[in-house]
Amino acid sequence: MSDCLFCKIVAGVIPAKVIYEDDDVLAFNDIRPAAPVHFLLIPKRHIESLLTTTMEDQALLGKMLAVAPIIAREQGLGAGFKTAINTGLAGGQEVFHLHLHVLGTPQE
Ligand code: C5P
Repeated sequence: MSDCLFCKIVAGVIPAKVIYEDDDVLAFNDIRPAAPVHFLLIPKRHIESLLTTTMEDQALLGKMLAVAPIIAREQGLGAGFKTAINTGLAGGQEVFHLHLHVLGTPQE
């Protein structure tokens, strides 16, 4: 088992509130939410950060962006949401397994 926190969440070794899962990606609620809805969407395969991706990853990266609004709508964010990918130490990344933050406030 890798030492990676998010790989452990993928493996079910560390608990998380999983809200979406398919063969390639997993989404779970952020443990320290910065908005009423705040989830992280990650590839199941370990990729350290956006800086370590290659053109080989374009289908997976595209899938993450395609799936994010589907989950966001399910979470009540059909009116809109923010996304962020912190990349590298200088980019504020704390967990070195690629993740897309999705944040928003459900609208009436
Ligand atoms: O983008 P960055 O690496 O800074 O963000 C990591 C995120 O992972 C944080 O928002 C933190 O709250 C979240 N996290 C989590 N569950 C964990 C550990 C960290 O949701 N077990």
